[in-house]
Amino acid sequence: MSDEQHTSGIEALADEQRTFPPSEDFKKTALTVGTEMYDEAAQDDEAFWARQATELVSWSKPWDTVLDWQLPDAKWFVGGELNVSYNCIDRHVEAGKGDKVAFHWEGEPGDTRTITYAELLDEVSQFANVLKGLGVEQGDRVNIYMPMIPEAAVAMLACARIGAPHSVVFGGFSSQSLADRIDDAQAKVLITADGGYRRGEVFPLKPAADEACEASSSIEHVVVVKRGGNDVAWVDGRDHWYHELMEGASTECAPEPMDSEDLLFLLYTSGTTGTPKGIMHTTGGYITHTTFTHKYVFDLKPETDIFWCTADVGWITGHSYIVYGPLSNGCTQVMYEGVPNHPGNDRFWEIIEKYQVSIFYTAPTAIRTFMKWGAEEPAKHDLSSLRVLGTVGEPINPEAWIWYHENIGGGNCPIVDTWWQTETGGIMISPLPGATTTKPGSATFPLPGVTAKLVDDEANEVDNGGGYLTLTRPWPGMLRGIWGDPERFRDTYWSRFPDRYFAGDGAKLDDDGYLWLLGRVDDVMNVSGHRISTTEVESALVSHPAVAEAAVVGADDATTGQAVMAYVILRGGADVGVEDLRSHVASEIGAIAKPKAIFITPDLPKTRSGKIMRRLLRDVAEGRNIGDTTTLADSSIVDELQAKAAAAA
Ligand code: ATP
Ligand code: MG
Repeated sequence: MSDEQHTSGIEALADEQRTFPPSEDFKKTALTVGTEMYDEAAQDDEAFWARQATELVSWSKPWDTVLDWQLPDAKWFVGGELNVSYNCIDRHVEAGKGDKVAFHWEGEPGDTRTITYAELLDEVSQFANVLKGLGVEQGDRVNIYMPMIPEAAVAMLACARIGAPHSVVFGGFSSQSLADRIDDAQAKVLITADGGYRRGEVFPLKPAADEACEASSSIEHVVVVKRGGNDVAWVDGRDHWYHELMEGASTECAPEPMDSEDLLFLLYTSGTTGTPKGIMHTTGGYITHTTFTHKYVFDLKPETDIFWCTADVGWITGHSYIVYGPLSNGCTQVMYEGVPNHPGNDRFWEIIEKYQVSIFYTAPTAIRTFMKWGAEEPAKHDLSSLRVLGTVGEPINPEAWIWYHENIGGGNCPIVDTWWQTETGGIMISPLPGATTTKPGSATFPLPGVTAKLVDDEANEVDNGGGYLTLTRPWPGMLRGIWGDPERFRDTYWSRFPDRYFAGDGAKLDDDGYLWLLGRVDDVMNVSGHRISTTEVESALVSHPAVAEAAVVGADDATTGQAVMAYVILRGGADVGVEDLRSHVASEIGAIAKPKAIFITPDLPKTRSGKIMRRLLRDVAEGRNIGDTTTLADSSIVDELQAKAAAAA
């Protein structure tokens, strides 16, 4: 070990210098071009959020107190009443925008559905009545396990309309994962589908839903949307077809006025680091936060923009930026059911061209896949309708950022790299596209009204270099707890540093005060006493023209403590020697970060939301049996990597 002390937790190695100021053209129509909002929020963040809540959200009863903050419990807009489905639908219809398209839905086989705000209001009201008819009362939990079809959004909004918190479980999860989540929430009703489309085939959902009901104890009714047309088993009395229940349901259902702090939904985290946590989100603060961030981060012009977020509604990104934020802002969206490579690798670009999408929000994992497939795929389509691009989910490697900027954005769309979590409810750190000069790989600055600070191991604030990312002030979309486990809430988020929310991620501040997310602190490697972030080594690898994607972990090593091990996916058609890649890392960020071993692989273990699972790669690299893989998307790749590691040892 070196005797040097690295109390700031993580060393900063990479030095990305490229900058991208917003163009004069973009600034002409941008919602924000200067620092006024930052200045206003810095003066008084509570007053700032209160202004957003007044301007962007409709309340049936005004609040008495903006914020009641008794660490770790925050209450926002205390005493206020509102209904989230009213905010997402009724108020737009009342304002004469009933004929405006809410969703252009595109099924994977190519079938489509166009839903206006007026139609959405009818369908949500009908389904809210259906739920009431099944005995769902205010406060009862409802589980949703659906493909990406409009009924998923309808079900969520119907729950919000009657004040029944939903718990959406991603349709790719197994019956056991669903059963665990049903039991944890003690849900009364499950809404599912016979099946959905994925890669040209129907994947059945109903069998898993049936198994989950068997394996759990609380479900009284199951509502089934017909989508796949596949055969399903049926339990009389328990199971109901959605279309049959809807036939007799009235389109009149008054939105229930809810307390600002009533539970809106539960959502379990992706499970990248361990067992998922049932995150609680409430009403007034959450809708304020998502409406505000959706509007300003994407520079939204609801009259003209077509917004497309490619996430699944089963993740927080789908909750906040397919359902709640965009609908509350009254904009038109694209919603797509399937995978990006059906029938061809250009499906996303075809959809952008077809619907003239102007704002596109996706994940770095998808961008790296597109890089692997090659720039000729987007080049087949006219993407000139695009004006803002966004990313979320993982740090974006600078080279992937540049690829996205050039090949999707045509070199002239600002990119907003948005850092946030299931727990934060909405975006926290991100550029504002008309105001911020971006740097590839940096999420730049906390949004107005958000206070993020880096600290070292002793909780001293760090204003240059690497540290732990903490949040020092409550924000409206903040989680209100972990369902049924207040102690885990306190331990997980509030115990590492006194009086601070610790998010689990590391970051660095550069000389200009830009924030660079460095991945999870659990993933930080310790090589001869140097604390190195996996993200920076991965980005150095991805900056090699032959590399599409890389995952790096620290494995036990007798001489250096930990050694850098890398797994690399090459770009389509590329070939490169492992030695070349090792020297490339050394020249990009330094010899200390040079991987001891590099494995070329066709794939990497990822969670079902597409995040690299380094925990498993570390197990593989250290020759251990891998632990819990329930949140893994495809476990066969782990066997392959284990075989490779064994052969190399
Ligand atoms: P679990 O908490 O169960 O392990 P998870 O953290 O993957 O799962 P999410 O809430 O979906 O669950 O993901 C939030 C995490 O995603 C953040 O803590 C961060 O590590 C990562 N992340 C999200 N956006 C960004 C971004 N723009 N840059 C860097 N990292 C990001
Ligand atoms: Mg997490």
